[in-house]
Amino acid sequence: MRNHLIGCIFCKIAQGIAPAKILYQDDQVTAFRDSHPVAPTHILVVPNQHIDSLNELTFADDALAGHLLNVARQVAQQEGVDQDGYRLIINTGIDGGQTIFHLHIHVIGGQRVRFPMG
Ligand code: 5GP
Ligand code: ZN
Repeated sequence: MRNHLIGCIFCKIAQGIAPAKILYQDDQVTAFRDSHPVAPTHILVVPNQHIDSLNELTFADDALAGHLLNVARQVAQQEGVDQDGYRLIINTGIDGGQTIFHLHIHVIGGQRVRFPMG
């Protein structure tokens, strides 16, 4: 599914029809603050088109995948967490802890990570 998905909250945010604190947007991706931050900086970077999860990415998406990563880097720098460091997370599927099935990268920083890896 690659068009906007009716009822998908991240599609709505990317389209500007649901509210979010948007930090960056271009024709491919949108970055906005997580509504329930787990750290002082908690930003989500999403493709504007609906992609359920990392499982749906293909090699035709190489440019988009690279752009998502580069925008994650840029928002981390804009937030000023790049020097102290930050963590990127892509939860994928039920066992991966994914709750919103629209691909997103978490950008988490502003404090030392304390949650366990698994
Ligand atoms: P997941 O568990 O799927 O990797 O992460 C989903 C994230 O989306 C969670 O951190 C959650 O707080 C965030 N989230 C869920 N609904 C909304 C929303 O309506 N707006 C924003 N900004 N974040 C949301
Ligand atoms: Zn969506």
